Amino acid sequence: MNDIQKLFPSMDGNDDQRADVLSHFKTILTKIDELKDPNKLTLGKMPEYTEDYYDRVIQKANVPKMGVPMEEVIEELLKLVEGHRYVNRNYVANAAPLPNIASIIGNLVMVLVNGNGLWDVEGPAAATAEVEVTSMLSKMIGYDENISTGYTTWGGQGAVFNSLRLAIARYAPSSNQTGVPENLYCFCSELSHYSLYKSVEATGIGVDHMIRVKVNDDHSMNLEDLKEKMELVIAKGGVPLYVLATMGTTDTFGIDDLAGIKHLTEELERKHGLDPVYIHADTAMGGMYTFFNEYDFERNPLSLEGSVFDVLKTYQQKFKYINLADSMVFDFHKLGQTPYITSLFLIKNRENLKYVDLDADETPYVGNRGYGSYHTGYTLECSRMGSAMSIYASLLAFGVEGYQELLANYIRVNMAFREKLTEAVPSVAITNEVSPITTFRFYPETVKWNDELNGLITAEEIMEINQFNDDFAEVIGAERDTVFFGNTKKQRIVAAANSSQQISVYAHKFFSISPYTTMEEVDRYVGFLREHLEFFLKTREQVLV
Ligand SMILES: *Cc1c(COP(=O)(O)O)cnc(C)c1O
Repeated sequence: MNDIQKLFPSMDGNDDQRADVLSHFKTILTKIDELKDPNKLTLGKMPEYTEDYYDRVIQKANVPKMGVPMEEVIEELLKLVEGHRYVNRNYVANAAPLPNIASIIGNLVMVLVNGNGLWDVEGPAAATAEVEVTSMLSKMIGYDENISTGYTTWGGQGAVFNSLRLAIARYAPSSNQTGVPENLYCFCSELSHYSLYKSVEATGIGVDHMIRVKVNDDHSMNLEDLKEKMELVIAKGGVPLYVLATMGTTDTFGIDDLAGIKHLTEELERKHGLDPVYIHADTAMGGMYTFFNEYDFERNPLSLEGSVFDVLKTYQQKFKYINLADSMVFDFHKLGQTPYITSLFLIKNRENLKYVDLDADETPYVGNRGYGSYHTGYTLECSRMGSAMSIYASLLAFGVEGYQELLANYIRVNMAFREKLTEAVPSVAITNEVSPITTFRFYPETVKWNDELNGLITAEEIMEINQFNDDFAEVIGAERDTVFFGNTKKQRIVAAANSSQQISVYAHKFFSISPYTTMEEVDRYVGFLREHLEFFLKTREQVLV
């Protein structure tokens, strides 16, 4: 038993066991640091991902008969790290975070005491942190912290699912017993995340009852189309249950007009005597920008300059209406730079939870005692990690201004990238508004973006340009260890001149996400693209000749 106890932290806090644990931490930190190279994306050497790679993993796997020494455990773990992408200055692909030190420490404390977020008796640290960050962030976005509530859950997608569940239960409280009514409809923009798609599948509402709404040029939901489609559903006897207002689309950072959506749903409610339509603000990508909601643009304490100032000011005008939504989410593991999973689902009115909470009779193990007063019987998880602790630690370490600086820099770097790229490469079009993300599209000869947008060129030609970009994505993808750009096969949808078919546009993505993507790096990103494009065009010519 003594040997087994050695696998655990001490009971009495003795120096020896702590030194032991510390020495393991030190080894791990040192070895990972040794693998870092600022000129590469990856830690150490990438394993060879041959076709039978995972087959070989499957064959080799066995629980060892006897435990191995900790040194060997660490060695094996570090083998897994070999070739791992590391979100340094070379990573400009997606909203992947480089967890900040405070969040790592928050996570560590969470693990060391290993509380269960389910019940404060089993996880007091997690419970208090959850209540605290819920209040902090409610105040940030303009929810009344005495009425709102929130909990950490399984990602931005989990927040969408949880919000849909609340919407169903609020509209039809008996649905928990009798099943989901058949005439419910959900609405989202055609550029929204597939989270709602999965949620209508899983709740039984069905994908046919998810209505996609067209978008405007700025990638926000077109409210005329929304109105038309909601009216159509109502005319056919359907119930408009739920609108997903995306604030920061995943690929292009389009921001839906929440005030407009709220105005529209209220108008329809009055006109047709409807129950309130549930609005969830999908702020998984954009939520962090509410940190500018209270920024004083007159005084401009951070000395934000020119276009950075302008962009953030327009964000404030949009994000200040988030408090009109019934719920929203903070996905800290995207722009907030914390480890997976740190998503806080915020609900404007905690009363709504009564529709989904479990009866005390159904929870014989926890929550129904005189002790403990925080029991999250309404979550879809039972046991929950206390990830609010990572969020809490980050909020303390950054403060509002720290996050503002980080978030403003994403915009600054994007502005510079756009300018320099269009200067250096005449055959490129920037295809979205300024945001932490730049989407761009190359053309074999001249730029035809305006024609594509206005439905002036043929489906074949658009698809040819898509193919050109797809091939180029392969070329730069092979070199992603130098700079890793993202790409998307549905940056937006356009009409063709010769067909009624709607066509998805392919684009490359530059996502400034790491604190190490700075102004000093922009020339390198642009140079990488220009060189590879020149090479690609040359090899293409040779093939064509
Ligand atoms: C990323 C994203 C999601 C999903 O969030 P996860 O945390 O990955 O589950 C949902 N909606 C939008 C707009 C997103 O960008």
